Amino acid sequence: MNDAARKETAAAISSDLYNGPLSRLTIDLDAAARNYLFLKKELGPETDCAAVVKADAYGLGAAEMSRALFAQGCRHFFVAHFDEALAVKAALPADKAPGNDIAIYVLNGPHGAAAADFIAAGGVPVLNSLSDISYWSDAAGIAAKRLPAVLHIDTGMNRLGLNGTDVARLAADAGALQALDLRYVMSHLACADEPRHPKNPEQLALFRALAAQLQKPFRYSFANSGGIFLGPEYHFDLVRPGAAIYGINTTGGTVNPMQPVVRLQGRILQIRHIDRAGTVGYGADDAISPPAKCATISVGYADGYLRRFTGRGSVVIDGEKCPVIGRVSMDCIVVETTSLKRQPQIGDYADIIGGGQTLEDVAAQAGTIAYEILTELGHRYKRVYEGSKA
Ligand SMILES: *Cc1c(COP(=O)(O)O)cnc(C)c1O
Repeated sequence: MNDAARKETAAAISSDLYNGPLSRLTIDLDAAARNYLFLKKELGPETDCAAVVKADAYGLGAAEMSRALFAQGCRHFFVAHFDEALAVKAALPADKAPGNDIAIYVLNGPHGAAAADFIAAGGVPVLNSLSDISYWSDAAGIAAKRLPAVLHIDTGMNRLGLNGTDVARLAADAGALQALDLRYVMSHLACADEPRHPKNPEQLALFRALAAQLQKPFRYSFANSGGIFLGPEYHFDLVRPGAAIYGINTTGGTVNPMQPVVRLQGRILQIRHIDRAGTVGYGADDAISPPAKCATISVGYADGYLRRFTGRGSVVIDGEKCPVIGRVSMDCIVVETTSLKRQPQIGDYADIIGGGQTLEDVAAQAGTIAYEILTELGHRYKRVYEGSKA
């Protein structure tokens, strides 16, 4: 290569490609905090707002997210597994200053650790069955104190929680809950993001009826993100949003009242000028003919860019959509840039989520939901937390 050619090549490559990251996952903690406050504004003064931070806060980082939400006054956190409770606890202030009392509820129940360790860590299990109740009551006996717990009643998910028969048995046994300090009686909506679904009022009525059988006026928790938007009769004492905090639209409408929290960008590793007919990627089943231009981007299915995006996904370069061509590989994708007004340079960032393509758009491309796009986000991304509480 002569000097002129070398200079030209160097100029076409973004300066830090060789020493910078190959991707960037930006998580805006201030946006998450604003979303949390927005949800709180939907609630009456008697309703507390928890944060569901299970699955590493839907893939966004449970420690960072819990700290940011704690700073906004959140004191109730829901996880699915006991180990997740430990991670959240470790991330939050340990001092017992007034108002700093944190509760971490474990949705999948008192599993994953010996009861003594569960108690020592301060995890509050959600009891999903009569056997969970007797197990946790026995643990209370051994610990010689009433143990905190949440009781889960199933009102139509048929997934976790006591059914009607279980509730009737529990109601008939006056001493059954004696060993427990029941913080909440909860249930979970199956169709909360479909506001007109008849299942919503059905579940609400059943929740009221089953809870009434337990007589004692407990505190109640019913709504997830979508449930908050169904109206005040769904709110009770504690709501449990996850998705909406992370910017997902759970209203069932096309207008998303939440602010985007996630931006995902991959960098262009190579630019290709197609000068002979051929195919792109594994399987050689996506034909391309000259003249065409493509860019290879450093994100693949190992990063959670699902193989299902093959033939359906697109990225945004310079504000313009570029379709994925060929199959998604483990570490890269190829997109077609032929129609772009300005051709990108090697090292430029392409937006995979954000930059004009919403999380919902991206989920639709893969025929899935925004929740899954987030929880699949891979671990190779350079994570950048934005916001004052990071
Ligand atoms: C995951 C989960 C939530 C949070 O749901 P979002 O739709 O993310 O708000 C609330 N409650 C239960 C029982 C859950 O499993």
